[in-house]
Amino acid sequence: TDTLHIIGGGMAGAEAAWQAANMGVPVVIHEMRPKVKTFAHRTGNLGEMVCSNSFRSDDDESNAVGLLHWEMRTAGGIIISSADQHALPAGSALAVDRDPFSETVTKRLLDHPLITLDSNEITELPMDGNWIIATGPLTSSALGQSIAAHTGADALAFFDAIAPIVYAESINMDTCWMQSRYDKGDTDEERKAYLNCPMDKQQYEAFIDALLAADKTEFHEGETAGYFDGCLPIEVMAERGRETLRFGPMKPVGLTNPHRPDDKPYAVVQLRRDNALGTLYNIVGFQTKMKHGAQTEVFRMIPGLENASFARLGGIHRNTFINSPTLLDHQLRLKSRPNIRFAGQITGVEGYVESAAMGLLAGRMAAGEILGRLVETPPLDTAMGALVNHITGGAAAKTFQPMNVNFGLFQPIDAKHGRKNRKTRYKAYTDRAKAAWQEWLDAQKPTA
Ligand code: FAD
Repeated sequence: TDTLHIIGGGMAGAEAAWQAANMGVPVVIHEMRPKVKTFAHRTGNLGEMVCSNSFRSDDDESNAVGLLHWEMRTAGGIIISSADQHALPAGSALAVDRDPFSETVTKRLLDHPLITLDSNEITELPMDGNWIIATGPLTSSALGQSIAAHTGADALAFFDAIAPIVYAESINMDTCWMQSRYDKGDTDEERKAYLNCPMDKQQYEAFIDALLAADKTEFHEGETAGYFDGCLPIEVMAERGRETLRFGPMKPVGLTNPHRPDDKPYAVVQLRRDNALGTLYNIVGFQTKMKHGAQTEVFRMIPGLENASFARLGGIHRNTFINSPTLLDHQLRLKSRPNIRFAGQITGVEGYVESAAMGLLAGRMAAGEILGRLVETPPLDTAMGALVNHITGGAAAKTFQPMNVNFGLFQPIDAKHGRKNRKTRYKAYTDRAKAAWQEWLDAQKPTA
């Protein structure tokens, strides 16, 4: 059987190796640590958690991350089962004892008869053979440059600058309206891609005060180099002058409020449609280093967003990721070189759990291909399917930024499940997902 080569033994690479080897495919993991270090990793272990020790919510009935846990458990995932083995008491969250966790992941992988470890940095995009690139947010610079040379520099980012993302259903349309600036756009669809929230002078001044006063996160060491190009946090813009935002992302020009046509807004916050389903909107230009609690408070001051619920909050981090919507197919293959798959955070998912999940899929799909049996992309109703569909097609390519799993990525559930009662609705999502996931898993069992 052909060998599968995996670059990077982090969350995604470890999971991909485990899945492929368990399907009977020999795997080589190429992991540069501990010889070559990153600014965040501390050990040479596979599956090292670089920062928090939490895999977030373990609630698989009303939380999308908890649902991903469940899908990985039922698929025999090494990351989730090792996490379960070293879980610490943390309420409904899955927190783990990080060193024993990654030691267990490492030992289980190295004990596998089909897995070998090559402790070297890979510096070039491979030409031949079967590969998965799972080098994560801190992909070494040589490999990063080689990827950029192949994909074009615009298709590889070294930082994320994430504006908060709001669930469309939580926006008050009695205050907001849909319109693109100067009605730009060739189609009705494009002109409707923007939502506007008007502010009067008083609201604007109060908003600036709140931005300036809000708690902010410090940058990690080694993180800031080159970051101030074109993605200033809004609070930094506000610090440069109280009017900066009004002449920047909050400029009120080219827009007319149909609710109050004679009343010109003093400033306008614009939101842009973030996915094909139209369930998510991002706040344009609002990347921020405010702490999460402060973000919720400050952004709910925006007229129309008083009751906003957020699919994800903003942030700015060192993060290498590719423009998956343009570069990858639904099998996570590089369209221009289908012998190479990508997995993990470099595909534009965000977080340990999401990265491991994409590793699980890439590992199974690559092994399937080597064995001559197609492993289909999981159905859209599953958490895995919703996430992989988002990054490889559902997300807007132009403004693509890393994404956490959330119910906004799922096809909306029938309104009969109670639009108001979140818990019932989320349970309906997870029930639907579990059935679809089980069917997908069953389809892969070799028929003896
Ligand atoms: P990683 O786990 O980083 O694994 C990639 C591996 O590839 C590494 O082991 C690296 O050494 C190796 N590698 C890189 N380049 C090469 C090369 N050329 N050749 C060989 N090996 C290579 N997520 C959370 O969920 N919670 C957090 O609290 C959190 N905090 C973070 C803090 C920081 C500072 C950073 C940078 C990221 C953080 N993340 C956090 C995101 C987190 O890194 C990812 O969610 C997760 O680790 C990604 O998994 P991965 O497998 O894609 O990458």
